[in-house]
Amino acid sequence: MAENTLMEKLVSLAKRRGFVFQSSEIYGGLGSVWDYGPLGVELKKNVKDRWWRAMVHARDDIEGLDAAILMHPRVWEASGHVAGFTDPLVDCKQCKNRFRADDKRIKGTPGQPDAQCPVCGSKGTLTEPRLFNLMFKTFMGPVEEQAAVVYLRPETAQGIYVNYQNVLNSSRQRVPFGIAQIGKAFRNEITPGNFIFRTREFEQMEMQFFVKPGTDMEWFERWREWRMEWHKSIGLTPTRLRWHAHGPGELAHYAKAAYDIEYEFPFGWQEIEGVHNRTDFDLGRHQEYSGKKLEYFDQAANERYLPYIVETSAGADRVTLTLMADAYREETVEGETRVVLGFDPGIAPIKAGVFPLVKKDGMAELADRIYHDLKRHFPVFYDDSGAIGRRYRRMDEAGTPFCITVDGDTQAGQTVTVRARDTMTQERVAIDQLAEYIGSRIRGS
Ligand code: ATP
Repeated sequence: MAENTLMEKLVSLAKRRGFVFQSSEIYGGLGSVWDYGPLGVELKKNVKDRWWRAMVHARDDIEGLDAAILMHPRVWEASGHVAGFTDPLVDCKQCKNRFRADDKRIKGTPGQPDAQCPVCGSKGTLTEPRLFNLMFKTFMGPVEEQAAVVYLRPETAQGIYVNYQNVLNSSRQRVPFGIAQIGKAFRNEITPGNFIFRTREFEQMEMQFFVKPGTDMEWFERWREWRMEWHKSIGLTPTRLRWHAHGPGELAHYAKAAYDIEYEFPFGWQEIEGVHNRTDFDLGRHQEYSGKKLEYFDQAANERYLPYIVETSAGADRVTLTLMADAYREETVEGETRVVLGFDPGIAPIKAGVFPLVKKDGMAELADRIYHDLKRHFPVFYDDSGAIGRRYRRMDEAGTPFCITVDGDTQAGQTVTVRARDTMTQERVAIDQLAEYIGSRIRGS
């Protein structure tokens, strides 16, 4: 399927079915900010729950954290964001549009007479590149002055670093151990786009693993392996996942080694998660800027050191988009196109649709009872409108793995049909076995 067509189809399906809406749409929208509708919020929540389960609940050596979005402004000086979180930008003096200096659509050299604005086409109107900080600023307290500037965090990691000793002192952990956090981050991205791939407000799922210096590369390799496995475990097609190693020119100032997990989107291979060996850069900087000792005392070895950090950093929105792009397919069934989001059952927003075949002979009442009973276990959807085939198609588009139909034989045998989304085959299942039948098939790893 052509790149744009698939993305356009995804955006339109997302809106039609209530996955993702444009923010403030009735006012014309807000650039690269998106809202999650009823199905989208469930899908993204499943992504976050699966991450939390794998990173926190299933492990003995990781603790959870939920730090505030607003932090002391010195944090961002220590982290390097005030000085270095910048993109070079050029402005068009004619149409007032702003571009990244490396925007491929710009012809010529910005600042020179030959440079041409990609929007209005004027020549010689582009300024020299200027550095622009990507952090959103606001003011704390009643006075809007420089001293009151605070930032909306551009990443969740710093909340973990500044709390590392609090977590250590209040839990039973010893190095090596990790802290995991899911939360909003904000970046005033200049070339956002590709739907929810790059947005100005997004959610990160980050884990920082604190290790003894010298063991960092071992842990780095382990974490690479575990993170790739996780992406496969939520149902992403393995052949569309690969590693990208940061070369010397690409490595961030703090990193000793960095790999991205990339996914093959319709618009090319792109990063969905970064695994970084950040050395002792972060704790070292916070120790220097705060004046507080952040060393760890290793009782067993009777030595003090500043732990090294291995970071795994994924975007919840980006993974949600990846799941949608990976799951989308069109098939021809009996001469008609069927659109399917073939989500892994554990990730699907709705687990089952419940339908009465027709609204007579008590079928609707029985279906309603089954619906309410199953709703106690997992998200289900009741639908009694239109032909049964259309109801199946609606659930296929929502990515619902099972459809339960109450028919003429249900009353007597106390059984229903369960239709599987992918194979479209049907099985008769006893009503009192339904919760277990579906439950056992949606339990994610
Ligand atoms: P990119 O090169 O795509 O801008 P990055 O290298 O700056 O990403 P990191 O700072 O390593 O990204 O952030 C870790 C993860 O957070 C990314 O892999 C991505 O999943 C997510 N992420 C980063 N920026 C955005 C954004 N603007 N919108 C949505 N998700 C994002």
